[in-house]
Amino acid sequence: MKRRFSLVCICILSIQMLFASQPNTFDEKRNLFKGKKPKYVFYFIGDGFGLSQSNAAEAYLAAVNGEEGVSRLAMNTFPKQGFYTTYAQNRFITGSAAAGTALSTGNKTSIGTIGMDAAKQKPFKSIAEKARDKGYKVGIVTSVSLDHATPASFYAHQPSRNDYYNISVDLSKSQFNFFGGGGIKHPEGDGKSNKKNSKANMGLDDGAKIDDHQENSIKLAEKSGYTFVKSNEAFRAIKKGDDKIVAINYQLAGGKSLPYSIDQKEGDLSLGDYTQKAIEVLENKEGFFLMVEGGKIDWACHANDAATAIKEVVQFDLAVQKAIDFYKKHPKETLIVVCGDHETGGLALGFSGSHYASDFKLLDYQKSSNGIFTSKIKAMKKTKASFEEVMEIVRDNYGFDSGEKKMRLSEFEMKQLKQAYNQSFKTGEKIKNKDQYYQLYGSYEPISVTAGHILAQKAGIGWTTFSHTATPIPVRAIGPGSSLFEGYFDNTDLPKNIEVLMKL
Ligand SMILES: [Zn+2]
Repeated sequence: MKRRFSLVCICILSIQMLFASQPNTFDEKRNLFKGKKPKYVFYFIGDGFGLSQSNAAEAYLAAVNGEEGVSRLAMNTFPKQGFYTTYAQNRFITGSAAAGTALSTGNKTSIGTIGMDAAKQKPFKSIAEKARDKGYKVGIVTSVSLDHATPASFYAHQPSRNDYYNISVDLSKSQFNFFGGGGIKHPEGDGKSNKKNSKANMGLDDGAKIDDHQENSIKLAEKSGYTFVKSNEAFRAIKKGDDKIVAINYQLAGGKSLPYSIDQKEGDLSLGDYTQKAIEVLENKEGFFLMVEGGKIDWACHANDAATAIKEVVQFDLAVQKAIDFYKKHPKETLIVVCGDHETGGLALGFSGSHYASDFKLLDYQKSSNGIFTSKIKAMKKTKASFEEVMEIVRDNYGFDSGEKKMRLSEFEMKQLKQAYNQSFKTGEKIKNKDQYYQLYGSYEPISVTAGHILAQKAGIGWTTFSHTATPIPVRAIGPGSSLFEGYFDNTDLPKNIEVLMKL
């Protein structure tokens, strides 16, 4: 009996000792971490990029490659994976500014705030600014405008994400070594019109007309030593040793962004090209920090445009592949972290109308994004085109009634399209109830969004919202310190990990 008692005691003691040697919180885990400091850090952020966007892209790739199940994205082969919550200080479902600030500074803030506390009083220093101050070279790459919420969170400190002019002035002062991707939205000031920019945040238009002429922020940047590169040839000529570069794509789509992957043509610059160029410019013996944002996954998901969103994810993964190629040359010194700021659209890999069926290959019928298709619809509105005339371009862009049985439009789907046509072309029966109208079409052109919904549903995809959702987001990591990204934590833990690992 005595012996058994002492055995129990030893067991309890050893269990206690086991727990004492294990860190209890992510803070402890970070602070106890002992390992080599990564010299090169890649931080990939997919905007609106949740687990379902990732898995939808994998199912799509498998379908088009004729494989079973899923074809893994390169990012999803990383050895360390975790999940994190994304809530903002004052709202459960976050936005890109609050999420960007959490991911760039390790602090929660209020919706719309860039790099400041929730009361919009105190600036927070980002890990990119800290890396710059420690002698690392710093790069920012994005497929949306350079002053958009996510990239801005790494260099700007402004009470509102819609203060595009002030954000671009902060960019000019940042002294970061490379900026690449989209343009500058309001280089001459957005004055009192900045509140009108919110629709433009999703690329729906270019925002308010400039009504305020302040000192041009591009000129301010040039004065502080930046060179702006705007042509394809000049971009390709950027080489190792060049510094203080702002490379703006030679052709910009709505919201001064790169065109969607689905709309890009042979020879167009991709997010991967910008990532590769950033690596060339930033590589040096002191190391670098590079943030790359796949910014238009979010926009396509706001528009519930499945084919476009999935192709943006594939292009984002090709940009990650550039970092993997670099990692292979410097495996002991390179850390790659791939995450998202929040999920958008409530993308579900299943839909009530399609029961248990999925057929992601059908998404390949879609020829151009909701954005490009909508511009065609807008032109047809001017000529008051008939339903049949509109259906001709709907069938052409989305591949409906193209021969394949699954692509045939049912009577119910035709009814939905006719109702949407009536709203878009302001003819026939009008939906007067605002809530009903919004639930069907959001802020989008009814006929475009309905056609996109029908194609997604045929593929086995459902959407629940035109906004963001609060679902936790996955992170994948490879390289020195990547074990800190295992577990279930909060979005603020990601930059805190990077800060400790880089000793910032
Ligand atoms: Zn976002």
